[in-house]
Amino acid sequence: MKHLILGNGPAGVVAAETLRKHAPGDAITLLGDEPGPPYSRMAIPYLLMGDIEVPGTWLRKDPSHYERLGIALMAGRAASVDTARREVRLETGETLAWDRLLVATGSRPNRPPIPGIDLPGVHPCWTLADAHAIAARARKGSRVVQMGAGFIGCIIMEALAARGVDLVVVEMGDRMVPRMMPPRASELMQAWCARQGVRVITGARVAEIRTSGAHLAVSLTDGQSFPADLVISATGVTPNTDFLEGSGVDCDQGVLVDERMESSVKGIYAAGDVSRAPEFDTDRKIAYAIQPTAVEQARIAALNMAGREAVSPGALAMNVLDTLGLVSASFGQWHGVPHAQGGAWVEERDVDRFRYLRLEFKGERLIGATSVGLTEHVGVIRGLIQGRVALGEWKQKLLADPSRLMEAYLARAQAAS
Ligand SMILES: Cc1cc2nc3c(=O)[nH]c(=O)nc-3n(C[C@H](O)[C@H](O)[C@H](O)COP(=O)(O)OP(=O)(O)OC[C@H]3O[C@@H](n4cnc5c(N)ncnc54)[C@H](O)[C@@H]3O)c2cc1C
Repeated sequence: MKHLILGNGPAGVVAAETLRKHAPGDAITLLGDEPGPPYSRMAIPYLLMGDIEVPGTWLRKDPSHYERLGIALMAGRAASVDTARREVRLETGETLAWDRLLVATGSRPNRPPIPGIDLPGVHPCWTLADAHAIAARARKGSRVVQMGAGFIGCIIMEALAARGVDLVVVEMGDRMVPRMMPPRASELMQAWCARQGVRVITGARVAEIRTSGAHLAVSLTDGQSFPADLVISATGVTPNTDFLEGSGVDCDQGVLVDERMESSVKGIYAAGDVSRAPEFDTDRKIAYAIQPTAVEQARIAALNMAGREAVSPGALAMNVLDTLGLVSASFGQWHGVPHAQGGAWVEERDVDRFRYLRLEFKGERLIGATSVGLTEHVGVIRGLIQGRVALGEWKQKLLADPSRLMEAYLARAQAAS
């Protein structure tokens, strides 16, 4: 049996290793289109902070790891998939045959259609090559304008601040991390950033980037203008599915997969950032875009490719962010469900101590939560949501005082296990 894996990020690598373990005699090819050994994007901030060197970003530190496992690492870019002939055509024209195909091509940063987006000194922060370009310009005292204050934008901020740059962040949404947490939590994060000396401007877009002498000039739609040595674009991502056009694989902002990570075409699977998989406890399919989920999805896909039955219970959406030292997290259905569907919520905020907790209920269960400045509740929240714990009288107690989460867990989850 021939297994072909497109994309050699965390999802591709873990799928290849899982296949090797469960299908010892099968041929496994792992195709990647970036130079160098497979690496982890989530290590990029640590590289920028100077905590690690490039080898520290590699997913497997031993260069002979793949050869030793009999995994053929191949450099190239998939251009199209022929499902009838079971072939992938590369950009070079070469074709690769497969019996089982895994799409693990991740996503790529969006390029907002702004005049000047192609100028030298304007970069996304997505690849190792981007990290090197950013490191060359982000020196102590450099003026940096960052477009976007979403999940990736907030992660980068930390690394930039550690390099001692003078940072301005422009977010077109009405608040920071608008797709990760409610307004009153975002407000707290924005105030925190200001206190750390980072100006976050919300509700405005970058209208134009120009060269101005040896530097760049960034104009915003609200009339403000900033000089910059470096502009970073962190304005969302698009899944890498273009090469699947015409293949018959159903895509909608990612490859749509079932709980076995199989696509609409039998024998073709997808995992990681490129996939949209069933969400825990809802009937939706969502993109998760975090490394632990990519790895777990890859494991499930590979087991099925190897002929074992493996089913995902649906991943719980979980985002944990460290923004300039303030830890925030959102879980599951943090946006809640309408009252008519049994929804209820409670919110507690301490502006002076930068603390926030919001719990979302459906019936007598916790289905989502958001926290800022609180780390001790992370495991408990996850346990209550994933365990589908019936809270009984503890729902009312939590509505009266959400900080009693640990007690609720001990009384209802632990007692039931
Ligand atoms: C700066 C930064 C910080 C992050 N921090 C965190 C964090 O703290 N925690 C966390 O959980 N997640 C974090 N993430 C997200 C995490 O990196 C991704 O969720 C993870 O990389 C997804 O793995 P993947 O294998 O699905 O995709 P990727 O890692 O994107 O790998 C896909 C690979 O496929 C290649 N490819 C694409 N198209 C083709 C093609 N046609 N042919 C061949 N190869 C192709 C790509 O070039 C890439 O090498 C961060 C991401 C970034 C950019």
